[in-house]
Amino acid sequence: MNNENREEKKEKKQVGLTTKILFGLLFGAITGFVLNYAVPDSYFKNTIVINGILQLIGQGFIRLMQMLVVPLVLCSLVCGSMAIGDTKKLGNVGAKALGFYICTTALAVTVALTTANVINPGIGLDMSKIHKSSTVATESATQSTNIVDTFLNIIPSNIFNSLSEGTMLQVILFALILGVILAKMGDRVETVKNFFSQFNDIMMEMTMIVMKVAPIGVFCLIAKTFSQLGIEAFQPLLKYMIAVLIALGIQCFIVYQALLKVFTGLNPLLFIKKFFPVMEFAFSTATSNATIPMSIDTLAKKMGVSKKISSFTIPLGATINMDGTSIMQGVAVVFAAQAFNIHLDLTDYLMVIGTATLASIGTAGIPSVGLVTLTMVFNTVNLPVEAIGLIMGIDRILDMTRTAVNITGDAVCTTIVAKQNDALDRDIFYQGEQKEAS
Ligand code: ASP
Repeated sequence: MNNENREEKKEKKQVGLTTKILFGLLFGAITGFVLNYAVPDSYFKNTIVINGILQLIGQGFIRLMQMLVVPLVLCSLVCGSMAIGDTKKLGNVGAKALGFYICTTALAVTVALTTANVINPGIGLDMSKIHKSSTVATESATQSTNIVDTFLNIIPSNIFNSLSEGTMLQVILFALILGVILAKMGDRVETVKNFFSQFNDIMMEMTMIVMKVAPIGVFCLIAKTFSQLGIEAFQPLLKYMIAVLIALGIQCFIVYQALLKVFTGLNPLLFIKKFFPVMEFAFSTATSNATIPMSIDTLAKKMGVSKKISSFTIPLGATINMDGTSIMQGVAVVFAAQAFNIHLDLTDYLMVIGTATLASIGTAGIPSVGLVTLTMVFNTVNLPVEAIGLIMGIDRILDMTRTAVNITGDAVCTTIVAKQNDALDRDIFYQGEQKEAS
């Protein structure tokens, strides 16, 4: 009961934070407009306010976010791959679930990149005007490295250098290997396992704390941007939101349902109807983790999926399978590249698909973590992280929507794996409904 109360309080707090971030965004935009259109240029306006206070707090907030990345990714990937290491014990089920999870995520990023390249959310927003760092980024993004070097660069020659320089792919590789070994060695390395999972909890807590200053950070970032860009910054942000929502819709209602139909023959519409309450719950909490019990229960009672399968694959999915999150990251990459006028080639796109798939493993099922792991995707293709400050203001609504997609992906994969392991009761699925000839 006490726990429930605490949970409720926590949720209330999170809703409060959302509203505050939205206010930050709104007041930031108004302040930016006023500075841009109503206040004449002066030393006070340009040097003290825009490039002084707003720059200091806005960039300070971005640095706080960056501070989280390396330890958060290291710990959560070690924990995630410890979970994958365990899947070996579950043999067939584990391997299949893992295969589906990774494939659907890679598919999700591809859907996102395609949608974003059709909608072009960042075109019309010239961020390079206000962030000089983009010149540096343009240069480094276009520096061509050959394929052999690209692969070699994934292997760390000194992991401490990789950690201190934030070379994400190297950190990821090391974390994955470490996690699998920890899982294999079992009880002998209990202390190290506990260290990583407790450190992971600590990083989650730190993320929550940093998110508390998000409203002020967002206010400053948006005010600075709008004070220099004016009205033309609105349309790209709206387009970014629409692109993410469309890609999420395609993944949820077309890709998943096609997979469900092909692999299980079940009626996709009925699946959505039965699963909708869980999606609503995920939407309102923006937390995959919190939906685990409800998801397992709904799959068992309404879809006929055996708990033997779901009690393993659903928590695994909530830890490592974040298709919705990787969709947001794919669209954000295109948005930032266009806004900063940076050309991404095919190798960059393949790197984004790979990193966003891994980022999905490293993203914890709690609110806003997708934004933190987005930094890692940006780093991989040398995009300036300043763009994250812009999209952060409108992220909560997208976080809610992508969480609903995240958990739907887990449920669809679980149902498919259950079908393939004779652990799906079709009679329960069609109970009370007219059985569809399929
Ligand atoms: N809120 C998401 C989830 O819990 C993670 C994220 O994308 O931030 O699934």
